[in-house]
Amino acid sequence: MSDKPTTNEPYEPLIEPPTGIAEILAPIAGFGVTFASMFRPTVTEQYPFEKVPTKPRYHGRHQLNRYADGLEKCIGCELCAWACPADAIYVEGASNADLPDGAHRSPGERYGSVYQINYLRCIFCGLCIEACPTRALTMTNEYELTGPTRAGLIWEKEDLLAPLREGMLAAPHPMVPGTEDTQYYRGEVTGPVAEQVAWVADHRPDDPTLASARAAVAASGTAASGTAASPASGAPTGTVR
Ligand code: SF4
Repeated sequence: MSDKPTTNEPYEPLIEPPTGIAEILAPIAGFGVTFASMFRPTVTEQYPFEKVPTKPRYHGRHQLNRYADGLEKCIGCELCAWACPADAIYVEGASNADLPDGAHRSPGERYGSVYQINYLRCIFCGLCIEACPTRALTMTNEYELTGPTRAGLIWEKEDLLAPLREGMLAAPHPMVPGTEDTQYYRGEVTGPVAEQVAWVADHRPDDPTLASARAAVAASGTAASGTAASPASGAPTGTVR
């Protein structure tokens, strides 16, 4: 037997039904939209020869963002994958503690070691970026996502990572000395410091991001020792604000 409450009350519509002339015209009222559209100018977009810019908040392909010192924002928590209604995201997390010599890919304990988005499944709803606790995942305005193979539409972490901006130091490398993940989350890390540059120079002397990171450190006047702590925050002066 159904648990639904039963009633003998007749159905009462919440909206007053039309009366008089409105009632007579109601069956053809929808044609008014069609009729009015006949007098509007025709707009034919010449895509792909002329690309019309999208609206600023258009949901295009995803991007995995970085902090200003080059560390990745993704912590491999998988919340985006759980939020995805189309099961289009696959994430595997790993521990930064397993990286050698105090290196980090992201601040804190974990990083995303595997990150895939299947664009054959993605419906661009944006629930994944709402779920992301670190704003690692955002969506760009890029919409040209086609390809000749199904496998090619599964984008890997390397495809999704934001490009390294001028002054950023490619991960992995240690966090800014004296900081914790909280300071990264608050946006207080504003660039690499000399210790991070020295670490990368020791471990990857051919890293192409070294030169611009060195220039950024020199320009910011960062303390080379990393011991110049701010009295208020306990963080190195010049890099953490
Ligand atoms: S993108 Fe965001 S939600 Fe997804 S695993 Fe990384 S940190 Fe978590």
